[in-house]
Amino acid sequence: MPIDLHAHTTASDGTFSPRELVAHAKELGLNAIAISDHDTIFGWEEGIEAGRELGVRVVPAIELSVSDENGKFHLLGFFPNHTNLEGTQLGEAVKELQRERDERNTRIYTNLEKLGVPVSPQRVREIAGGGAQIGRPHIAKAIIELGKATSVQDAFDKYLDAKSPAYSSKAGLTPREAVALIHDAGGIAVWAHPTRQPSERAGILDFDEGAALIPKWIEWGVDGLEIYYGAYTPEEAAWTLDMSLQFNLLGTGGSDFHGSTKPNVPLAQVNGGTSVPDEVLENLLSWRK
Ligand code: AMP
Ligand code: FE
Ligand code: FE
Ligand code: ZN
Repeated sequence: MPIDLHAHTTASDGTFSPRELVAHAKELGLNAIAISDHDTIFGWEEGIEAGRELGVRVVPAIELSVSDENGKFHLLGFFPNHTNLEGTQLGEAVKELQRERDERNTRIYTNLEKLGVPVSPQRVREIAGGGAQIGRPHIAKAIIELGKATSVQDAFDKYLDAKSPAYSSKAGLTPREAVALIHDAGGIAVWAHPTRQPSERAGILDFDEGAALIPKWIEWGVDGLEIYYGAYTPEEAAWTLDMSLQFNLLGTGGSDFHGSTKPNVPLAQVNGGTSVPDEVLENLLSWRK
């Protein structure tokens, strides 16, 4: 049975609650689903409980935003043996990321106000839902409500993208730091969607550029590459698979499902309409033994 090792919930910028996500996975006949929210593990508890009830294996995961002089990247950490990160350095780092994110959001609100787009932080919190971490996709929805953008993509293009006027960056972990934190917590570190920079506007990474980055990731200690992905073209799928084999890296994969935040990305579909085989999870589970 297929699996999906990359999905977001209302704990970050997805629109399905952890329970709804697991129920959707069950509906599609998935064997396992990873809850991999941006910079938070808030969805794990509810998801793991739902998984137990519904008979779907829930893999606790996180998608960290990392950057250094080599660029901005997303790094997945998989923690099959954890139900929370209490007592780990990574758990502490995630709390710090949360504070930095809150401060960054406040700067974005100020920038938007100056641009004549007075989004209400209170309204953004409502859009994000209780307890969830606020991200730019939530702010984008508030901008749409104000009539200042026609879609999430339009709001990013006009205001929120890294190259757009309301953007503000947040301090974060370097890839090397993040890999070390994941390993320290007993996790497996995977470079997420290597051919896609975190900003969707950046498009597909030049393969030669990507190939030059892989030895750096190996030096930073990464365990694997995402070789199946919802948005991959056949060329990206072939290239990432080839890289994983050439460099002896674990291959993982998932859709990057976000619910209606990314309406064109259905759960469990990767590489142009196929699914992630079960053995990917088996390889993941045996990787660090
Ligand atoms: P944040 O964590 O607040 O920085 O927001 C990150 C989220 O915004 C991710 O889910 C990205 O997929 C989304 N995102 C980033 N850049 C863009 C863009 N240019 N267009 C649409 N979505 C984007
Ligand atoms: Fe996202
Ligand atoms: Fe990502
Ligand atoms: Zn993701």
